[in-house]
Amino acid sequence: MDDKPIDKQDILKELDELHKLDHNYADGRILGSMCTEAHPFAKEVFCKFLDTNLGDPGLFRGTKQIENNVIKSIGELLSLDDAYGNIVTGGTEANLMAMRAARNHARKYKGISDGEIIIPESAHFSFKKAADMLNLKIVEAKIDENYKIDVESLRDAISDKTVAIVAIAGTTELGLIDPIEEISEIAFENNIYFHVDAAFGGFSIPFLRQAGYDLPVFDFSLDGVCSITVDPHKMGLAPIPAGGIIFRCEEYLDVMAVDSPYLTVKTQSTIVGTRLGASSAATYAIMKYFGREGYTKLAQNLMENTKFFAQNLKKLGYEIVCEPELNIVAFNHPDMDTNVLAQKLEDLGWKVSVAKCPVAIRVVLMNHIKKNHLEELLKDLEDIY
Ligand SMILES: *Cc1c(COP(=O)(O)O)cnc(C)c1O
Repeated sequence: MDDKPIDKQDILKELDELHKLDHNYADGRILGSMCTEAHPFAKEVFCKFLDTNLGDPGLFRGTKQIENNVIKSIGELLSLDDAYGNIVTGGTEANLMAMRAARNHARKYKGISDGEIIIPESAHFSFKKAADMLNLKIVEAKIDENYKIDVESLRDAISDKTVAIVAIAGTTELGLIDPIEEISEIAFENNIYFHVDAAFGGFSIPFLRQAGYDLPVFDFSLDGVCSITVDPHKMGLAPIPAGGIIFRCEEYLDVMAVDSPYLTVKTQSTIVGTRLGASSAATYAIMKYFGREGYTKLAQNLMENTKFFAQNLKKLGYEIVCEPELNIVAFNHPDMDTNVLAQKLEDLGWKVSVAKCPVAIRVVLMNHIKKNHLEELLKDLEDIY
């Protein structure tokens, strides 16, 4: 740190220089991000709530009420009238909370002290962090030829140490939805905690279903589902950080509660102590501002771009890994190594993401990728091959 204060202008100049090294969503060249530019109104509201701290909700009663309202709204979107949960920093923290709830619940009611969680091979890496932190063992369920959980493999993976089963509604790499209804029944029959990771799909599947898309049920209308992760900072257009964890009942928060002696409330169930109220306020604002209608239009629009892109890729001789269920397209060229293709695209200024399972170029069609960007990308893909 400098000894003497530095002039604001000089500081800003230095920061701007570095900020210029960042890529801009507005350029439409970021192809693999599940985040996008937040809506301006959400950013405006976010700034107003920068000093609020939901770690001490007695001091910020209004903001706490906002968080409760957001959780209620997201819960309703997921077919749950009385939802419990929190707006957290993202999908990672939401999944960590879910696994912690499951572990503590199984410890309290089943006496399991060395638990296992069953996750698909396609699960987000946040579960590896959660398992590490919570001292849980990961048991992987296989995925089938359609890149979804193989239900039989999942059934076989259940043991008397299983504390949670995880399925995904909108996989990170391919945007696919696991057979959640079937898995919910298995979890329910076996009395095992079932968590659905809809970090990506949670803010689009309900709206697409409403608009008539043929997508499966994935939410609390299924009896076995105990918690769902939904990220407002992905498809919800809220500023980072905004993740959501929704629990079916309060008990799941209770089993995580620790005493919080010097605060205005007696216990705390979240992992983070001092935490942003701004995320809740911004998410609240953008959900009101868009309404179901706004999100439906957004989701439909992105699906149209997805279809447009996938169809044109095929015309150019590229092969798509699977028919997209959500707004992600993964593809390869039959005659070119994927990493070579990725490098060629990088050289042309595209920020490319390569999926691992299976290896493929992965484009997440977020709101910053417009039709004209897709046309440019397709032109480059035509020239490359
Ligand atoms: C993005 C994502 C996560 C992690 O969310 P972060 O906000 O990056 O922490 C978890 N699960 C799925 C399915 C995701 O797509």
